[in-house]
Amino acid sequence: MECVEKKLVCVSCPMGCRLTVKVCGDEITVTGNTCKRGEVYGKNEVTDPRRMICSTARIQGGVHPVVPVKTDKPIPEKLKFKCMDVINSLDLKSPVTAGDVVAANILDTDVNIVVTRNM
Ligand code: SF4
Repeated sequence: MECVEKKLVCVSCPMGCRLTVKVCGDEITVTGNTCKRGEVYGKNEVTDPRRMICSTARIQGGVHPVVPVKTDKPIPEKLKFKCMDVINSLDLKSPVTAGDVVAANILDTDVNIVVTRNM
């Protein structure tokens, strides 16, 4: 059976442990992690990598022309550009409050886009 090894840095906390993830068929082993979160992170990175997206969206009537937004959960990495298309298509109107959902269940992922500051 062919095995593949991938070197990663765990970004789940500031310690930044250097992980080695070995995939042999259905078996995935993670070494180099200091805690269980690193093992989960390493396995997810090779099976279903996800990313938080932070950006800005257009807003009318605010003190600035754009307002910061982010996904409220990590989104599958393969959808990050489509997620940016959704964010770039937003045309918000002031006032907005930090935490407001401005796009719900984007791309059928159960991930929302939320505003991260009042404006
Ligand atoms: S393995 Fe644990 S201690 Fe190491 S960076 Fe990841 S979360 Fe932090």
